Amino acid sequence: MKMRFETRAIHVGEEPNLQPGGSGDVVVPIHLASTFARRETDKPTSGYEYSRTANPTRAALEKRLAALEDAKFALAFASGMAAETVLLLTLLKPGDHVILSDDLYGGTKRLCHHVFQENFKIGFSHVDLSRPEDIRDAIKRNTKLIWIETPTNPLMKICDIKAVSKIARKKSVLVVVDNTFMTPYFQQPLKLGADVVVHSTTKYLNGHSDSVGGCIILSSEEIHEKLRFNQNALGAILSPFDSYLVLRGVKTLAVRMEKHNKNAMTISSFLEKSRKVKKVLYPGLENHPQHELAKKQASGFGGMISFEVYGGLRGARRFLESLKIFSLAESLGGVESLAEHPASMTHSSIPKKERERIGISDSLIRLSVGIEDIADLKEDIHHALGRL
Ligand SMILES: *Cc1c(COP(=O)(O)O)cnc(C)c1O
Repeated sequence: MKMRFETRAIHVGEEPNLQPGGSGDVVVPIHLASTFARRETDKPTSGYEYSRTANPTRAALEKRLAALEDAKFALAFASGMAAETVLLLTLLKPGDHVILSDDLYGGTKRLCHHVFQENFKIGFSHVDLSRPEDIRDAIKRNTKLIWIETPTNPLMKICDIKAVSKIARKKSVLVVVDNTFMTPYFQQPLKLGADVVVHSTTKYLNGHSDSVGGCIILSSEEIHEKLRFNQNALGAILSPFDSYLVLRGVKTLAVRMEKHNKNAMTISSFLEKSRKVKKVLYPGLENHPQHELAKKQASGFGGMISFEVYGGLRGARRFLESLKIFSLAESLGGVESLAEHPASMTHSSIPKKERERIGISDSLIRLSVGIEDIADLKEDIHHALGRL
């Protein structure tokens, strides 16, 4: 039976075992064993040998994650960065070239430039991926990969996944989409032509700010086999306990995303009306330059908002330090609301001149709007803006 999204999010990978001797648990146990006994030397009796290679709790999560993106395969890692590392090590070799968006997760930028470029001689170009026409010119003979985040972090620019994938396919370049912000509930990049999806499960997929993890999701059997080999060879796997937490968290993904989206819609319109706010970046607003594209390629706009206040760095600090319900913290995607200052927190590793060139000003604030009562969130923001 082909299940729909919300049913898959709850059931795939956790089918109760009603065979003789099966316990019938409706929740997959946390299998802590590091090794699995067998009857014969030449094959593992249960299918499992050693927990780094494969573990039943992690396998249940991997099955669930693949089902959410309607893909054939998923692999779970110890963090989003571990997933990205294994993916890049699997797909690239020295001398290759990669196109990245000009505005992307700071950790990805650091990994690419300070590890893969410095140590492994891989070239990276940054392109404004909200303009697909610029991508054609940026593709070189040795380009292997285009890495998309959409919406981008923190400037909320939208990249047309379908248009970029079409250009890439013609040149035999692979397209990877970091789908952390939208989640498969709102956006399914593989259906739009991308080859591989990555997530930091730390964010919306787990959704409760109590686990760090990552995953790679894809349908290519050939790439999956190499990734599976490297997941075991490199060893940066997600633990059984974290696998359990994500399996549990993801069951409520649909209801959480609906509420994140609804709350963020209200907060962004509220911010737009304030005299203290210079600019609001949220794809759900009609005046977002790519609102139509956002509506076309995703079924929601998510819970992330960036905005600029008047008053520069001092104004931004005063706002952030006056919040009472929003915690001043990095990260995103949990049920609780968070606020942060990209220039001095998540994006501080980018030199100031470069930050300003791409538009991350000192007065920019990023919100991860949680699922609390909207009246409380509005009051909190109203009060903090009043302190400016
Ligand atoms: C957090 C994040 C990552 C990195 O994931 P970790 O789990 O922190 O290693 C990658 N991409 C995006 C968009 C993120 O928000």
